[in-house]
Amino acid sequence: MIPYGRHTIEDDDIAAVADVLRSEALTGGAAVGRFETALAAVSAAPHAVVCASGTAALHLVAMGLGLGPGDAVVVPSVTFLATANAARYVGADVRFADVDPDTGLMTPETLEEALARPSPGRPRAVIAVHLNGQCADMAGLLTVAERHGLTVVEDACHALGGAYRLDGIRHPVGAAPRSAAACFSFHPVKTVAMGEGGAITTRDDALADRVRRFRNHGMTRDPGAFTETAQAFDPSGAANPWYYEMAEPGFNYRASDLHCALGASQLAKLDRFLARRRALAARYDRALEPFAPLVRPIPRGPTEDDGWHLYVALIDFAALGQTRARVMERLRVAGIGTQVHYLPVHRQPYYRALDPDITLPGADAYYARCLSLPLFPDLDDGAVERVAATLGEILS
Ligand SMILES: *Cc1c(COP(=O)(O)O)cnc(C)c1O
Repeated sequence: MIPYGRHTIEDDDIAAVADVLRSEALTGGAAVGRFETALAAVSAAPHAVVCASGTAALHLVAMGLGLGPGDAVVVPSVTFLATANAARYVGADVRFADVDPDTGLMTPETLEEALARPSPGRPRAVIAVHLNGQCADMAGLLTVAERHGLTVVEDACHALGGAYRLDGIRHPVGAAPRSAAACFSFHPVKTVAMGEGGAITTRDDALADRVRRFRNHGMTRDPGAFTETAQAFDPSGAANPWYYEMAEPGFNYRASDLHCALGASQLAKLDRFLARRRALAARYDRALEPFAPLVRPIPRGPTEDDGWHLYVALIDFAALGQTRARVMERLRVAGIGTQVHYLPVHRQPYYRALDPDITLPGADAYYARCLSLPLFPDLDDGAVERVAATLGEILS
């Protein structure tokens, strides 16, 4: 069975993890900083903070920005649950934005629409999702966001290694040139695997400090930050060696050295992984051409370089006269795994209960047609032709 996505683990990745197992520190050691330094370099951001998952990264940023009750966070409806849930974790309201029906991306227009809709909370932030690896129109979204005084966060979980153009400059995804932060996931289906893991990149020194603190229970050991001087310092003025302070509770969202060693080893292969994903995507584009307009690739929008997390085909199941479930089942019988990314989050029971009347036709139209085909570096060229040929048989 070919899965829709999977990790590529090689002997040197295994050796990197084994080295940590033989070392002094399984967590809190040097592998964490090494991975953060490498990630900051890849994303051209001054700070990279690794954590337990992409979900934790989004939650940490929501905390770090001080979002909370009374605030609203605009989130496109076509994304993974975690993008929206991060706002709920801190007590903020989620305001769903519609998406372009063909790219699945939030646009400046759908952002405006969401901001104009009467819903709970005062909009304070917007999370742009680089869906499938294709970058959102950051120039357009930033214009709208800045006009409304919103902080922009990038959910870059699909887009490691991609890039977008802003103010005439090519920015690697993660550089967050005019966003507060970008969040990454290193779940095994993503381009770089840690097992479980995530990261935040940012140019904002204070935000980097805050998310580091919230990653570790809200603790600080920095004497300059201590407020309870009588208990923090001895009579000579030296900080007590055991002492730490917590001004606000955080979480244990740390990533272990085992995970970070794997992440660093994988990150060194990003260019090779991406080149392979790109080549396979181009092959899919050609192989699916004969089936247009029933099957079409996602149109390429304003992205500069695509991170190619997913290869999504838009299939007109209505015109085809077959349900998506039936097409997926026939592919599965032929040994081909596919997936749907995503059921629009505003349709989840939890969010429906909060806003039963919302309708987002772009999200529904995208959802009705999307099907993620197998895409991962170890997929061989022949498999692409086999997927296309099988789809062709199903269509005819
Ligand atoms: C994978 C993903 C996340 C969450 O990442 P985890 O590491 O699985 O917690 C968040 N947003 C998007 C768009 C994702 O694809």
